[in-house]
Amino acid sequence: MNVLFVASECAPFVKTGGLADVIGAVPKALKAQDIQSRVMMPLYPTVREIAQAAKPVRDWPDLMGGPARLLSVSAEGIDLLLLDAPHLFEREGNIYLGPDGQDWPDNPMRFAGLSRAAADIAVDGAEGWRPHVVHVHDWQAGLVPAYLHQMPQATPPCVLTIHNIAFQGLCAPELMSTLGLEPSLYSSEGLEFWGHIGFLKAGIAYAEKITTVSPTYAREILEPAFGMGLEGVLAARQADVSGILNGIDLDVWDPEADTDLAAHYSVHKLKHKGTNRDAVLTRFGLDPEPEGPLCCVISRLTTQKGVDVLLDAIPALVERGARLAVLGSGDRDLEARFVAAAHAYPGKVGVVIGYDEALSHLMQGGSDAILIPSRFEPCGLTQLYGLRYGTLPLVARTGGLADTVINANEAAVTAGCATGFQFAPVTPTALTQAIHRTCDLFAQPKVWAAMMRRAMRHPVGWETSCMAYQAVYSDLTRRSADQA
Ligand code: ADP
Repeated sequence: MNVLFVASECAPFVKTGGLADVIGAVPKALKAQDIQSRVMMPLYPTVREIAQAAKPVRDWPDLMGGPARLLSVSAEGIDLLLLDAPHLFEREGNIYLGPDGQDWPDNPMRFAGLSRAAADIAVDGAEGWRPHVVHVHDWQAGLVPAYLHQMPQATPPCVLTIHNIAFQGLCAPELMSTLGLEPSLYSSEGLEFWGHIGFLKAGIAYAEKITTVSPTYAREILEPAFGMGLEGVLAARQADVSGILNGIDLDVWDPEADTDLAAHYSVHKLKHKGTNRDAVLTRFGLDPEPEGPLCCVISRLTTQKGVDVLLDAIPALVERGARLAVLGSGDRDLEARFVAAAHAYPGKVGVVIGYDEALSHLMQGGSDAILIPSRFEPCGLTQLYGLRYGTLPLVARTGGLADTVINANEAAVTAGCATGFQFAPVTPTALTQAIHRTCDLFAQPKVWAAMMRRAMRHPVGWETSCMAYQAVYSDLTRRSADQA
């Protein structure tokens, strides 16, 4: 079976968050199920180098205001289709934001361009390769099913995966004709969302199946508290909505082979984790005494991630003898508050503002615990990296965090099945209690080491979830064949 993936980012070529990790890992993992996939994404400046070896396979004289062509190349085990449209994607810096930190004003045109071109490839194929299923990701690819819907010919079925419902891709309805969308699609059953064109809404309305990235989040987004206004349309499509847990790329995230670590270690040889710990302490200017746990945060610094709640819990964390290493970027105000915390608690709190892939690996290797106090979290990947690296996750009980971490309550510790810590609600008081629980168990080295080993053995790869995706694809192709 052939599957066309359409997404705005793909690791290791371009990454702003978990979406890229997923797009970089799933096509490789699907090969084991005999599924041949190609990833269609924009050709950003950071991707130019690999594009040098690429071959042109199609062109568009005018794609949302300028010429575009599609290039085909294989890199890092992924078959890529790169959309070369300089008027849309040839921009330095963050792929979504201008130098002022705001969304590029023409983001609707940019990602409608990606979606429009992807719909053409869905129908016509490329280089003789034709997809049986189109798998689109998040709002940036949300218009693909809408464009397919308005095509007169037979089109392949579409799966939409929602990685984060908070990002919906809204724009003014006056853009309908500029984006090449038929007026009839602008309705409450179609892509209209509270007086706007909604890219994600379009995906929900016109994709044959909708998945999201954990079973708990699949339930949560049917409720007003998490659905961000889309709960009603999702509930109407409930029979087609499912949650398939994200996995991680076990080759990229492997404490026995990770080239960003100061020393390799394994479930059988935990001792060398200490060398990584020393490296993290040095890098963040933290006190070396081995008193309490070394906790880390690797995150976008936004209110979604609950890091403001963590800021309020820092005094209690420091009081317990724990130390905190933070790597992140995001809201300017939150960045400033973390920098201020590092000044207020020298040697106890260390902060690096920025995005640093290599440092994120070292921190997973060298920390005792990773803190993820998110207000909502569709799946979350850093807790999965934490499990794999024996860095016990302390997480809010929401979304994929609830589905992947087994809370160390008394029963779970006694039964020998705990892999981390959960807390709820997302308040400084509940987080502080969880930090105390973490410190209490850290003070019992045998219990802690057993939890580390269990966490490292917890299955976090893609095997099970790829079978679930395969089942979704097979169901769709069967349905299409029945209808033909
Ligand atoms: P989200 O996609 O909502 O940001 P996820 O947990 O799903 O959250 O994925 C975040 C990904 O981005 C992880 O791979 C994490 O390691 C990485 N990441 C987040 N912030 C940074 C940072 N400042 N430096 C390096 N990697 C980061």
